[in-house]
Order: sequence, then C-alpha cells, then structure tokens
Amino acid sequence: MDFETRAIHEGQEPDPATGSVTVPIYQTSTYVQEEVGKHKGYDYSRVANPTRTALQACLASLEGAEHGVAFSSGLGATTTLMHLLNPGQRVVAVNDVYGGVYRMFKQVYEPKGYRFEWRSAAEFAAHVPGDTALVWVETPTNPLLNIVDIRAAAEAAHAAGAILVVDNTFATPFLQRPLELGADVVVHSTTKYLGGHSDVVGGFVATNDPTIAERLLFLQKSLGAVPGPFDAWLVLRGLKTLAVRMERHCENARRVAAFLDEHPAVERVLYPGLESHPDHELARSQMSDFGGMVSFLAQSEEDALSICRLTKLFALAESLGGVESLIELPARMTHASTADAPFAAPRELIRLSVGIESADDLVADLEAALVQAPASSRS
Ligand SMILES: *Cc1c(COP(=O)(O)O)cnc(C)c1O
Repeated sequence: MDFETRAIHEGQEPDPATGSVTVPIYQTSTYVQEEVGKHKGYDYSRVANPTRTALQACLASLEGAEHGVAFSSGLGATTTLMHLLNPGQRVVAVNDVYGGVYRMFKQVYEPKGYRFEWRSAAEFAAHVPGDTALVWVETPTNPLLNIVDIRAAAEAAHAAGAILVVDNTFATPFLQRPLELGADVVVHSTTKYLGGHSDVVGGFVATNDPTIAERLLFLQKSLGAVPGPFDAWLVLRGLKTLAVRMERHCENARRVAAFLDEHPAVERVLYPGLESHPDHELARSQMSDFGGMVSFLAQSEEDALSICRLTKLFALAESLGGVESLIELPARMTHASTADAPFAAPRELIRLSVGIESADDLVADLEAALVQAPASSRS
C-alpha cells in the first residue's frame, strides 16, 4: 500500500471490543492477568501500551522499517540510543545539529568519557576512524539547512564498522527515507512535523536491524523514557495528515524562499530547494521535496531582532513543524547552547518554520516586517 494509505491504516484495525474506528487512548498503567504471567501481551504500560503499539507500527511502516520504538521526546530517543554505546567509544557527528543534541553530547556524554568528532556537512563523508561506534547525521541540518549525503555517510560509517543514525525530523519519511539510503537507524522528534500541531512532545526510533531493535526495546522499558497513551495518540492522529500537510509546507516554503531571495533587505536565503543552494542537486537525489524550513541572513543582528519582533503571523517561538508558521533567532534561542562552538549559528540568522496558512498571507507578513525592520532597528 502507498504511504498515504499506510499513514491512516497501518497498525490501526478498528477496535475489536467496540468497533471504534480510531485507536482508543488506552489510558491505563496496568492490565489484569488471567492467572500469573498469563496476559494478552500487556502487563504494565512502561513496557507496552496498545496506543503506543499502534503508533510504533504505523510510523515504522512509514520509514520502511521492520521495527519502531516510541519515546517521550526526541531527546529521550537520543539518550536511549546513546545507551547502545559504552564510555570511551567514539561518535562522529555533523556539527550543525539541533542545539539540544549538541548540548547532550557535549555536556552530558563527553564528560563521561564518550568521544566526539564534529564535522561539517560538506566534509562529512570523509574517512571515519576505525574505532568509531556511531555516526550521527542530521539532514537537512538545523538551522543552516545544509545537506549531508546519506549514501556516502553510510558507506563511510560501515567501512569503519560503525552504525549510521540519521535524524529525519526536518524531512519526515514523506520526503526522505534514510533506511532505504543505507542508514541503520532513523531518529525523530515527533514533536515537529509528525505530530504536526504543536500540541505534543515525543520521539521515535526506527530500524531494520533486529539486534538493535531488540536492544532498544529492552532500553525503552529499562530506562523508561516512554510516551503516555494520549501523547502516542496525538502523534498517531498527526500521521494521518502528514502527506497533505507536507505537500503544503513544501509549496509554501518554496514561495517564501523565492520571495526572500529577491528581497533587498535579505543577505542570503538558505533553502535546499533554491537552485543556488550548494547542495541543491544532492537534496534532489535523496529527498522528494525540500521541506518547510527556510533560514535567511538579515543584514545585521539588530535587523534580525526587529524582523522577529515585527512579524504577526509568524509567531516568535522555538520548535517547528506545526501547522502554524514560526520565526526564531537560532543564536539566541534554539541554538544558544552552541554559542561557544566554532560552528555557532550566525547572529543575524533567522529560521522560519513555514506553516500551512495561505502563502499570500505569509509573504505579506514577511514583506511588512522586512520593510519596517531597518528603520525600527535604528530607532
Ligand atoms: C526538536 C528536535 C530534536 C529534539 O526533540 P524533542 O522532542 O524536543 O526532545 C532533535 N532533533 C531535531 C532535528 C529537532 O528539531
């Protein structure tokens, strides 16, 4: 079955007890046993919950994966993945990652003796040292929207005997399926496009490797970073409209990027869908469209601050991937934790999460802010 059909039906038979068309929110912590040890596969909700089971089956299918494991947040998923490693082992990671992932690696795992090598997206597929256990890629990267070559990264990782993990949060499986390109593990913040309505925090990991899957299921119940039934249900509901939402996100982002690209108050637009983007061809070769995130450089940090203050439809907020448009300043907000890194986000960089409102309204909102910003930042 096609993606759109699986997004609505996979793992979601009508409820056998009542015929309920939507999977119920099994808001329970425990399950009655017929006799000691005899139950229907559910004994305690940290270990398993039917609403979570449905989400895991559906989202795994969308990633083209045999196995899916849901978590309480994207970082909960990342922490659990890091428990596949032992202190002393090396991680090679792309340097332009979500600020929270950078902070976790730098401030939580490095002090414990895990070793990290940071690389730019462009030089990512260079030789990976033989003692590397895990290669961590985010593509498109956040917030600079560079593209990492997933096929080349998989080859380099596998040559070193490492596993390749791809954070697919920005693209979603509708636009990019890393497992089909050679990755071993896909990780998500379902808080973003998969939930899609800015009303839930969640994480997810998908894999086709049975050994990794078994270990992750063990770690899911043993570490306990699990989503509650209602959160699992919200993400499951979000998935049903993922395809139509992503089409509109991409269409609107294309319009916004083209508008900004022509605007004299904008220094440079970072959007892989623009032919002028250095990784445009690479993006085309591994994504079916370019996503809903657009970053751009204003002429100064002051201008950038003004623009963020002046937009009305684009709400000033962290996060991304919801139906509503958001604007933010990575250097001061989502990526403040990379401020001391050599690859800190430029201070005049603005990141947009382009929502699914009317593209005309979105462009008009940006136009009004861009016209007023220079005057407002001088006053
Ligand atoms: C938000 C985000 C995360 C972290 O996910 P949470 O759900 O906030 O814990 C990880 N990676 C990317 C690319 C993100 O955007």
